[in-house]
Amino acid sequence: MSGIKPARRWQPAFFPFKKESFGRRLLAKVEICIKGPLFGCRMCGNCLLQETAFICPMECPKGIRNGPCGGVTPEKNCYVDETRKCIWYSIYKKAFETGREEKLLEVLPPLDWNKVGTETWGEVVGKIRKIGTVNFVRGITSGGKLKKSEVWDSVFKTIRQPAWWNGDSDYHPPLSREPVSGLERRFRAGEFVVATEVTPPLGSGTDKFIKDIEAVKPYVTAINFTDSSSARPKMSSIACCKVAVDKDAEPVFQIAARDTTRTGLQSTVIGVNALGIKNILCITGDNSIIGPSPTSNMNLIDIDSVQMLWILRKMRDEGIYLDGRTFKNTPDLFLGAATSPFSSDPVLQSIKDHKKINAGAQFFQTNLIYEPERLDLWLEQLDKRNILNKVFILIGIAPLKSYNVAMYLHTKIPGVSLPEKIRKRMEKAGASAPEEGVQIALEIIDSVKHKQGINGIHIMTLGWESIVSRIVTESGLNAQTSN
Ligand code: SF4
Repeated sequence: MSGIKPARRWQPAFFPFKKESFGRRLLAKVEICIKGPLFGCRMCGNCLLQETAFICPMECPKGIRNGPCGGVTPEKNCYVDETRKCIWYSIYKKAFETGREEKLLEVLPPLDWNKVGTETWGEVVGKIRKIGTVNFVRGITSGGKLKKSEVWDSVFKTIRQPAWWNGDSDYHPPLSREPVSGLERRFRAGEFVVATEVTPPLGSGTDKFIKDIEAVKPYVTAINFTDSSSARPKMSSIACCKVAVDKDAEPVFQIAARDTTRTGLQSTVIGVNALGIKNILCITGDNSIIGPSPTSNMNLIDIDSVQMLWILRKMRDEGIYLDGRTFKNTPDLFLGAATSPFSSDPVLQSIKDHKKINAGAQFFQTNLIYEPERLDLWLEQLDKRNILNKVFILIGIAPLKSYNVAMYLHTKIPGVSLPEKIRKRMEKAGASAPEEGVQIALEIIDSVKHKQGINGIHIMTLGWESIVSRIVTESGLNAQTSN
């Protein structure tokens, strides 16, 4: 139990969207009076407290229900609300203390909004009655660990995992099939892959944008198009991907949970797939707190990145929408996710990564890496979990163009930190800072190139697309195209 809390909630508690009986309304009032001060409960109506070490995940300002975002660090506070520690970090720590960390792998569903604001205790009592109160009490107080867990799950799992979701902690390998994209094909062929990104334009003109695509295309397998990175509106990732497809370049479509609903996700992905876009990177997205003013809603509006992967994998492999409708002509998808190896303890980070792989991630693109030697601990954890061979990993590399860029990344971007020696090198370089930035990038590539479990690099250009050809050539990585 998390102890008495000052009912800290960033969003107000929900009210039900439907007429409820007097008894249920009364029970809901009692529930909020107790769970509000104790757990910061928002009456989501889809209670997970039993599985999150009795710390309510809805205390996360983003409302993430499947583990920490890339902004969490053990030392620093939540990057959205700097006055508090990351609530997910507390949940993970508590789960470790109580030996329940593997429970954190279960992929939890998004809210059923038809239930928000309603009480959950009535449902729990109903389920207990169904198996018999005496049987329930006997089951959880006596018998082995397995028996206790079975009895517990016979009540709580059926509540937290409704039939339309049916989440679990298992790995679901993609259906055996031919690679659907050049990116997947090269990974599977065992090549060391180079991907990059081209910055989406601010306006509707595409002349410079197309030139940038054409400049990087001969050197990379795939080009990422961010989805309003840093929470700043730009040309949409869909439009950018379509321009790339028209120019015979292979896009990676990035889609941020920050701006996505479950309905929008499913329709959009079916649509982009019909346009020839196969690589989909599901991310939470930079929070609006780091975007421009006026600041928009900091909550995730409907689903998180793990839930996105789970939904898309089922659409691809089972031909089923979240609402249960089945369909033919399933989309060809190569699903990716972001990971932030240094945002928290590698042991904790590997749990979140494990969950993403179980949900459907086939490749990872990491956050920016400036201390490659620290990757070993993280890779070790993935290996221990037997997941290193289940995912392809691209290491995020950004050549620094100036000392200011270095400091911006270090201080403003959640989950990114530059060691002092790199900051000093950039500062000392003065007018030669761009050259120094390139040398640093080449050194990092050199040290990750032969690491076991690393399958390539993702060059994040930060608007410096013209440098991609030099980085790829001088790092000795073969020129690659998607064909
Ligand atoms: S760091 Fe991220 S996951 Fe943790 S509480 Fe803040 S927004 Fe939520």
